[in-house]
Amino acid sequence: MKRLSILLLLTVFFAVNSLQPSALLAQDSSKSGSQNWYKGNLHTHSLWSDGNDFPEMICKWYKDRGYHFLGLSDHNILSVGQKWMDVEVVKRRGSKTGFERYQKVFGGDWVETRMKDNKTEVRLKPLNEFKALFDEPEKFLMIQAEEITDHFGRLPIHINATNLQDLIKPQGGTSVRDTISNNLKAIKRQQERVGRPIFAHLNHPNFGWAVSAEDLAAVVEEKFFEVYNGHPSVNQLGDAKRPSLEKMWDIANTIRIGKMKLPPLYGIATDDSHNYFGTTGSSPGRGWVMVKAAKLTPSKLINALEAGDFYASSGVEVNSFAHNDSAKTFSVSIKAAKGVTYKTQFIGTKKDVDVSELKSVGVVLKESNELNPSYKLTGDELYVRVVITSSSSHPNPSLKGQKQQAWLQPMWR
Ligand SMILES: [Zn+2]
Ligand SMILES: [Zn+2]
Repeated sequence: MKRLSILLLLTVFFAVNSLQPSALLAQDSSKSGSQNWYKGNLHTHSLWSDGNDFPEMICKWYKDRGYHFLGLSDHNILSVGQKWMDVEVVKRRGSKTGFERYQKVFGGDWVETRMKDNKTEVRLKPLNEFKALFDEPEKFLMIQAEEITDHFGRLPIHINATNLQDLIKPQGGTSVRDTISNNLKAIKRQQERVGRPIFAHLNHPNFGWAVSAEDLAAVVEEKFFEVYNGHPSVNQLGDAKRPSLEKMWDIANTIRIGKMKLPPLYGIATDDSHNYFGTTGSSPGRGWVMVKAAKLTPSKLINALEAGDFYASSGVEVNSFAHNDSAKTFSVSIKAAKGVTYKTQFIGTKKDVDVSELKSVGVVLKESNELNPSYKLTGDELYVRVVITSSSSHPNPSLKGQKQQAWLQPMWR
């Protein structure tokens, strides 16, 4: 986009609706708005690792609630091959009624059990068997995923790979940054080897206080991270000494754009769901991405994510947003719910700010209560991003007093 010729820019500017994201303009200048919003969660656990319900139950949960795509991303394992579990372990992990619930919903023809060493075992279905129960063109898509679960010393370093073909083992490294980089390179190698896009994102940087904002900025292969993760143990808001995930986003992007002259990191929201009985622990439905793409396929979704044609949400939805480079405006159209008000904050860092001066990094440049707010860039900003906060409480909060929000990707030219 940065190097698009003036001619192309003008063509594109007049050809498409001004309320489409700029990345879309760059990517899809020939198209005439045949794009849809797809809702998905890219970070989900099942009994295949440390989640507490069967994968089919989890897929059903998401599909029944209007999600369009889902990646089951278990720790260092794909839902592939034979895996049997003691039914008693299943009950202890989740709920006493969890196994019955599974039988009731999917029926005796589907659920497979066996006796082994006087114990009843249940077979965990592999993705290639249960995917067909859920996938429907343009309605729902299961995408193979893995949470590559690595560490440096005692610091957890977790990276999700979505749409991978083969398991990727944790790669290790000589530092936090080296460990992140090695895993991202392994994902990239597989992408090149198997010839399909694999989406990589760094999970919950504040979990175990493992990854700093400076680390996020420094690993140049890293393009996406979780600005919101619904797990209650991820230190979403930081603490007295350490920044929140949102503040880390600002610090990292101030370094990326201001010092390294690189594009910004994009922020996604995920559930990191583990617990499917009630709302205790890390239960589903807290955070997701809304992706604008032409078709509900893994490649189209990943291409759209890479192009920035998406936003992260914990409840607020937008009709559209636009980075209009020629008019130097960032505009948003909020999808309003009845009786709800919205506060939109345009947040950014001014040029020539010292990144160690935290109070000047990621400041509110403008605040609006309109449903179609916009911000006119002065030229002083390294980038501008948007966070919209609803007056409605989150129905299943991971944080005390949490309101529903949406996080839009930075405009940075
Ligand atoms: Zn994790
Ligand atoms: Zn996880």
